[in-house]
Amino acid sequence: MTKDTADVTDPGPRSLDALEARLARDLDLLTLPPADWVPPQDGVPGGVLDVAIVGAGMAGLTAAFALRKVGVANIRLFDRAPAGREGPWATYARMETLRSPKTLAGPALGFSNLTFRAWFEAQFGRAAWEELHRIPRLQWLDYLNWYRRVTNPPVENETVLTAISGDGSGVTLDLTGPEGLRRVRARRVILANGRDGLGGPFIPPFWKGVDKRFWSHAHEAIDFQALKGKTVAVLGAGAGAVDNAAEALENEAAKVLMLVRRATLPRINKGIGAGHPGMVLGFHTLSDERRWAYNQYIADTGVPAPHNSMLRCSRHPNFALLTGCPIEQAKPDGGRLTLHTGRGVVTVDHVILATGFSVDWAQRPELAGIARHALLWRDRYVAPGEEGGDFAEHPYLGPDFEFLERVPGEAPWLSRIHAFNYAASLSHGKVTGDIPGISAGAERLADSIVAALFTEDYDRHWQRLLAFETPELLGDEWTEAEAFQ
Ligand SMILES: Cc1cc2nc3c(=O)[nH]c(=O)nc-3n(C[C@H](O)[C@H](O)[C@H](O)COP(=O)(O)OP(=O)(O)OC[C@H]3O[C@@H](n4cnc5c(N)ncnc54)[C@H](O)[C@@H]3O)c2cc1C
Repeated sequence: MTKDTADVTDPGPRSLDALEARLARDLDLLTLPPADWVPPQDGVPGGVLDVAIVGAGMAGLTAAFALRKVGVANIRLFDRAPAGREGPWATYARMETLRSPKTLAGPALGFSNLTFRAWFEAQFGRAAWEELHRIPRLQWLDYLNWYRRVTNPPVENETVLTAISGDGSGVTLDLTGPEGLRRVRARRVILANGRDGLGGPFIPPFWKGVDKRFWSHAHEAIDFQALKGKTVAVLGAGAGAVDNAAEALENEAAKVLMLVRRATLPRINKGIGAGHPGMVLGFHTLSDERRWAYNQYIADTGVPAPHNSMLRCSRHPNFALLTGCPIEQAKPDGGRLTLHTGRGVVTVDHVILATGFSVDWAQRPELAGIARHALLWRDRYVAPGEEGGDFAEHPYLGPDFEFLERVPGEAPWLSRIHAFNYAASLSHGKVTGDIPGISAGAERLADSIVAALFTEDYDRHWQRLLAFETPELLGDEWTEAEAFQ
């Protein structure tokens, strides 16, 4: 059916109950999910999961449903956040709306009745959908919570991964949760632990040593009310800087200065220009040089703040944006901080670093077992002149998002752990966290885990085949001829 012939007059389901019935029907028509086909692992006390997923944000939930779609049901997700509060949406994300266009299918995995649009229209109608400009931030979280309810993965919340190790037959996760400390065994592990999954907030080298009472990082809890009447500097040029500046302005900061090191503000989101299926599905097959060059180009050109986010700041007369303004020195001055910048000296009460995240294994002690052995990009390829940069620390992943060993033979269990977080993007492109590519990434991941589980269990599948004795013909459907007639 083409767009012209589609029946756009159908109002679709008019309630979530009706939508959920349609989704159930979609699954029924496709005979999904299939029965769990993975043989149980015998003889392991307490049992062993086929797949453990660390993180139940968008990536973890999508991976879980992708696995369910291919009949892998012995899985469990663990998330340190309370139920319904996973991911950044209700914590340090401070934008009014998502950047992404509302029409993206996101984690729907090909099910039209699982999209944000279907969820939105079922509750608010088609006219409201037409009027919607961008998805409000907390409404996106409501949608993800609904997605979780209808796909129904087994999630344990308030449960933190504290260590990871492995051996020839699986991976061991040390977890701390409401029941205290415990160990869980899994044949495969997916790290869907977010934008900062292999690191944490990036603190620029020039800032190290500045007393913490003068500053916050944009990705931590900030008491914005305490900034009322204060002069606040926000360092950074992207969406995080603008969102935090807006939050300070709306909490009646006396003055907010957005200080940008770059000579000009990025204005073009280059990533959008490459957001087609070729890039999503083919990126991971490119040479090392091309994968690095693509990511480096996007990083160097910078990703601009969304149009509406910038307007949220510039409507305040006490907002000032200064480009070409690198910080050269920060010195305490009584209870304030004096910043020596490329454009002069200014004294402020508080600084918010909106400097993003970095892959920094030291900030993830729970992953030390992986960090010791994992092959990194610096072991394989670094673009000339980029030695010592952030990308060099990213894991060099295999085709199944799996970690590879730096020294072959030292930790073969690493290949049982799949990085399905931001740090995978140098190897696999934008399929492990952002809304546009998340379904494609989850399907690639689920397919590869299925293949691995099947191959590992092949002897048992062979035995099952030999033992399979359900007849299709019962023997009474025909009579054997006595002789040629
Ligand atoms: C402010 C902000 C705005 C964004 N806006 C957009 C946008 O408009 N469009 C877009 O496409 N993308 C956007 N993104 C990028 C991306 O969509 C989000 O980062 C999204 O949350 C990624 O989903 P995720 O599941 O990978 O990570 P998260 O949603 O962060 O989920 C990871 C989960 O892992 C859990 N976890 C981490 N470590 C542990 C541990 N040791 N033990 C147990 N649990 C753990 C966390 O509690 C968390 O719930 C935005 C990102 C940010 C930060």
